[in-house]
Amino acid sequence: MLDKTKAVRFAYNPNEHLGAMSVPIYQTTAYEFRDSEHAANLFELKELGNIYTRLNNPTTDIFEKRFCALENGYGAVATASGTAAIFYTFANVAQSGDNILVAKQCYGGTLTMAAHTIKRFGIEGRFFDIFNLDELVSQIDEKTKIIFFETIPNPAIEVADIEKIVQIANEHNILLCVDNTVATPILCKPLDLGADIVVHSTSKYCNGQGSAIGGIIVEGKSAAAKIKDNSRYAHFNEPDPSYHGLVYTDLDMPIFTLRARLALLRDFGGAPSPFNSWLNIQGMETLALRMEHISNSALEIAKFLEAHPKVLSVNYPGLESSKSYKNAQKYLKDGKASGLLSFVLDSKTAAQKVAESTKIFSLVVNIGDSKSIITHPASTTHQQLSKEELEAAGVDEGLIRLSIGLEDTQDLIADLKDALEKV
Ligand SMILES: *Cc1c(COP(=O)(O)O)cnc(C)c1O
Repeated sequence: MLDKTKAVRFAYNPNEHLGAMSVPIYQTTAYEFRDSEHAANLFELKELGNIYTRLNNPTTDIFEKRFCALENGYGAVATASGTAAIFYTFANVAQSGDNILVAKQCYGGTLTMAAHTIKRFGIEGRFFDIFNLDELVSQIDEKTKIIFFETIPNPAIEVADIEKIVQIANEHNILLCVDNTVATPILCKPLDLGADIVVHSTSKYCNGQGSAIGGIIVEGKSAAAKIKDNSRYAHFNEPDPSYHGLVYTDLDMPIFTLRARLALLRDFGGAPSPFNSWLNIQGMETLALRMEHISNSALEIAKFLEAHPKVLSVNYPGLESSKSYKNAQKYLKDGKASGLLSFVLDSKTAAQKVAESTKIFSLVVNIGDSKSIITHPASTTHQQLSKEELEAAGVDEGLIRLSIGLEDTQDLIADLKDALEKV
């Protein structure tokens, strides 16, 4: 099956659901066991099945399987938000005394989580520039548990040399996780390029209409192979006292996401609601069509801005002037670079003025909505970062970020043109 077919058909047979063509919403907390032996088998993993919606749910299950198929993955677990997916990915491998290596060009929330919040659990976030991979290599040690970066970082909007980072992770036998939120599996499949794990905020392009928060972790076949007999991941190779001595690596299963479900959803509890999983299933159906339209529209708008006299620079990996152009052509499907672009004006005041003056673009801190969005990161999403951190994340004070939606491209260009006349 190819992507467009998977997105509407995979893992669902209407005949098993009273013929319902739309995936039903199983709005339930718990599930009746056939008998006590059935219940015991489920808890012992002798049989797989539904126990309690914090751990699994039939609607969420279809969402997980479908999304996993789009990423060419081996297993997946959905979470209440992208942030939960990222935290569980870190928590699944690192404990007090360990460190994780995170790209400086990442979502603001990921950076604050890695720099500050997990520090309180004794986990050190170390940071590297995706354009200076010596910084990555030099910080790896025996306590490094994961390398993490974004395919198209939000809001820096570049494309890393994915194969080089894969090579470094493999040489050191460290799990590599890619946040693929902005590229989506339609434009890039990091697992096919050698990453071990992919995470998403499905709140963005997957949902596509800004109607539900959600996240997902997908693992490739390589994750379990890398974990097996690897001293970095001793807790997967030794009996788990919290699960009656289960040794994850004894199982021929996608054990990274299995442990995220059995240990982390069990104990931290950030499970998605069945209704949100259903909304994300609806969104996924049109994902391929939307990503194509949005990418084409964003390129046209980027070209318009590049030619505008008041615009100092435009950053869009689909533009030949972008330093990421080569990587975008190499790693993104047909060089299509999704819907995020940014441009720089000569001051913070000018940027704020333009962001306030558009009539179609909404001033919102979100991306991936069907409605186009304009943001001034320095005063919103990245406000908690210091001047140095802002610079490292590629956020200039005059920077404006756009998330292109599904409106007519000509209307969007006219809206920007009018707003730029006001500064
Ligand atoms: C929004 C976003 C997140 C966080 O996801 P939530 O669903 O908002 O928790 C993580 N990574 C990227 C790239 C994002 O854009």
